[in-house]
Amino acid sequence: MRSFDDYLRDAEQAHGHLCAGQVLGVRLAMLGLQKLGIEDPHGKDRKRLVTFVEIDRCATDAVAVVTGCRLGKRALKFRDWGKVAATFVDVSTGKAIRIAAKESSKALARELHPEIENKNQQQMLAYREISDNDLFATQWVKVDLPPEEFPGYKGERVVCAECGEGINFRREVRREGKVLCRSCAGDSYYQPAE
Ligand SMILES: [Zn+2]
Ligand SMILES: [Zn+2]
Repeated sequence: MRSFDDYLRDAEQAHGHLCAGQVLGVRLAMLGLQKLGIEDPHGKDRKRLVTFVEIDRCATDAVAVVTGCRLGKRALKFRDWGKVAATFVDVSTGKAIRIAAKESSKALARELHPEIENKNQQQMLAYREISDNDLFATQWVKVDLPPEEFPGYKGERVVCAECGEGINFRREVRREGKVLCRSCAGDSYYQPAE
């Protein structure tokens, strides 16, 4: 595994700025890799990992940089729970660990560095110093990962009977003998403008 400072530099570049979330995300991801014994996530171990992230904020970018798991590679899965947490799944063994930032970490940062007024600066420094145990809660978990969730899944592509658009990765809904996309089945995030 590369060093914390190396990963942090890469994370800063990818994310566009250095912030407490980057420090936290790099630490969180490095801990996950370490627990799973994954040493080279960008090299020989690059197909071993699937990562679930639970928030779309700063720390998530850092998790993606350290693990090499990206949305476009299907190795990064987003569950929108609004929590600074991630689950790392070693697909070669089925072992998985969930790591969540402790709610107490912000207060701890305040205690450690009351002399720094700027919250981001305060947390950036403190999150480098606080021990893994004080910063994170970790839990070994089981993740149900069906074949269509794996990065390399090659599956049949079907066409929605309503809108005619192609659907991959078994995301279709079958209703009364018809194949529908999730949007046409009523599970849509958009509506026609008029
Ligand atoms: Zn940020
Ligand atoms: Zn459709």
